[in-house]
Amino acid sequence: MIEIHNITKYYGSNENKFQVLKGLSLDIREKDFVVILGASGSGKSTLLNIISGLERPDEGTVCHDGTDITKLTDGQLTQFRKENVGFIFQQYYLLADMNVDKNVKMGADLAGNGEYRQIIEAVGLGDQINKMPGELSGGEQQRVSVARALAKRPKVLFLDEPTGALDEETGRLVLDYICRLQEAYHFTIVMVTHNLNIAEMAKTVIKMNSGKITDIYENKTQKTAYEIGW
Ligand code: ATP
Ligand code: MG
Repeated sequence: MIEIHNITKYYGSNENKFQVLKGLSLDIREKDFVVILGASGSGKSTLLNIISGLERPDEGTVCHDGTDITKLTDGQLTQFRKENVGFIFQQYYLLADMNVDKNVKMGADLAGNGEYRQIIEAVGLGDQINKMPGELSGGEQQRVSVARALAKRPKVLFLDEPTGALDEETGRLVLDYICRLQEAYHFTIVMVTHNLNIAEMAKTVIKMNSGKITDIYENKTQKTAYEIGW
């Protein structure tokens, strides 16, 4: 369970100070599939970064299973991220000089998990472990980043526009893998997207506008990436 209470965040200083998040509260249940929707600049990425401990809020608390991560030291926060959360971004951030196997193994090593090969198999790249990122298509690279994020068996997987750099068919394929992996490994998903169609896959949809949550839809019927037909 993640309990987010009264988060505020400002960027800039003095007369250029700008409030990005305006007292935002939200509970995220274990194993939920949450999609955060909202216009560009509404604060989605900032919120995701704060929930996952990549950034700190100016005020408010973020409790993961009872631990308020805003109270952790920088070192403790880094350790928390290593042990508990996985990230997938629009750009894949793979290490260009390491092959698929080593990129994924690096994720596994972060949390001392030796069973990373089966995750490579699960994203359909078992026959490509020796390729370098530059030898893979965009969708394959994003699947490597999915495998790397999941190799450490995170409790929560955070995704910021994971299909933004992919064509629709490849985006569906990657999302389909993510859903199947959630069924197998039971992690929580928190995903930011612009794509209203992708929201159909979620159990919970949160809409943001100008740094506030405007709507929450819970217990939705989930559709698979292939049922959406976008
Ligand atoms: P998009 O859909 O375009 O990715 P978003 O909803 O993810 O938008 P954020 O990235 O959270 O929006 O940014 C919210 C606002 O905060 C924007 O106006 C942005 O310019 C500003 N902002 C974000 N990061 C910083 C930063 N590091 N320094 C200053 N301003 C920032
Ligand atoms: Mg963003």
